[in-house]
Amino acid sequence: MKIEVVTIGDELLLGFTIDTNGAWLARELAAYGVTVVRRTSVGDGADEIAAGVGAALERTGAVITTGGLGPTSDDLTKPSVAALFGRAMYEDAQVVESLVRRWKAMGRTGDLPKSNLQQALVPEGAGILANAHGTAPGIWLEDERGRWVAMLPGVPREMRGLFADELLPRIRARLEGTPTVVRSHTIRTTGIAESVLSDRILSIAGLDLEGLSLAYLPGWEGVDLRLTARGLAPDKADARLARVAAVLRTAAGEHVYGEGHDDLAAAVLDELRRAGKRIAVAESCTGGLLGARLTAIPGASDVMLGGIIAYHNDVKMAALGVHAETLAAHGAVSEETAREMAAGVRRALGAEVGVAITGIAGPDGGTAEKPVGTVCIAVDGAGPAKSFRARMIGDRREVRERSAQSALSLVRRALLGTA
Ligand code: AMP
Ligand code: MG
Repeated sequence: MKIEVVTIGDELLLGFTIDTNGAWLARELAAYGVTVVRRTSVGDGADEIAAGVGAALERTGAVITTGGLGPTSDDLTKPSVAALFGRAMYEDAQVVESLVRRWKAMGRTGDLPKSNLQQALVPEGAGILANAHGTAPGIWLEDERGRWVAMLPGVPREMRGLFADELLPRIRARLEGTPTVVRSHTIRTTGIAESVLSDRILSIAGLDLEGLSLAYLPGWEGVDLRLTARGLAPDKADARLARVAAVLRTAAGEHVYGEGHDDLAAAVLDELRRAGKRIAVAESCTGGLLGARLTAIPGASDVMLGGIIAYHNDVKMAALGVHAETLAAHGAVSEETAREMAAGVRRALGAEVGVAITGIAGPDGGTAEKPVGTVCIAVDGAGPAKSFRARMIGDRREVRERSAQSALSLVRRALLGTA
């Protein structure tokens, strides 16, 4: 099945909003063997919508739109598409009822605003895609030749929910024969350069990717290895992905921390639990980012005790016990200082493991000896004390993100004995 996606909204054309809906739909549909052959973005005008959807319908007879289903004057998707199909609009009593129910359930007083009633206007003969995630229902409109347009809301969370609940089942019911799928498997690595990883993989004797494509996806978290199978039956795709992924995991070795969307912070918490140790963090240039990463994981409190943001040298000395002599001799950004910070926060908070970050996030403050991006990281209490100095690339934000990730990686590898 071939589908076109038309995303609707002036904000998309002005560049204020990035079309994440189109990208998400393309990925999701591919996983079910449905190909998105073209993505178009159009403005909110009725003529623009009619032209965009009309042309897409001519080409494929299967179109998904997002946006323009709201209660305001710039929401014109339904009447524009209804006109394409030559259908009139009517106010659907059931939709009105569900809008009123939702209005009351949200604790709002007074009557439902008249504007909301616009969301109950539906083209004659349309299927209503119930929205359990917001007010605007989606619409399924089909002509006698079986050509269809499915209209989804623009708010990404509502769009995703409605797609899964209501639209995907309809699309799957139309797929004929043994479905082939596009399926991916992602291996997450960190602390290894893309090129080094590639050398490792290319040096595997008798490497056979079994026709899968392999992408190297570098980012501040590390390098993801994504394997993709196309045009295979689901079980065949899964078996191939599993076989090849196992080979790649072995090649990447100690740098692999998870798969899919796994978070390194969660992997660190798991290692701490296995080791029966609790952690405390001391942060200078990351200002709490490392603590935020760990506490973002539900259930972190059993092994994450807390942290100290020691941005100023006075706090490094007073709260963490860093020696004035250390700061004078080596500077705030040094492995020596990082080690004293890690040991200090461990003592101060009564943790078994302490980890510390101190660095120059930029854009100012760099010197010839310690350029912007220089970061020192240390861990104490997970095996022998460890520290390293690295040069993080990127702007201030990226240097900070990379530093937190590197600190997590050091803790994990220290716990595993591979640091
Ligand atoms: P609408 O349903 O057109 O009223 O859109 C509601 C909100 O959803 C907009 O203000 C945007 O923030 C967001 N939105 C709309 N279309 C998209 C899109 N294609 N990708 C990401 N966000 C979108
Ligand atoms: Mg809009």
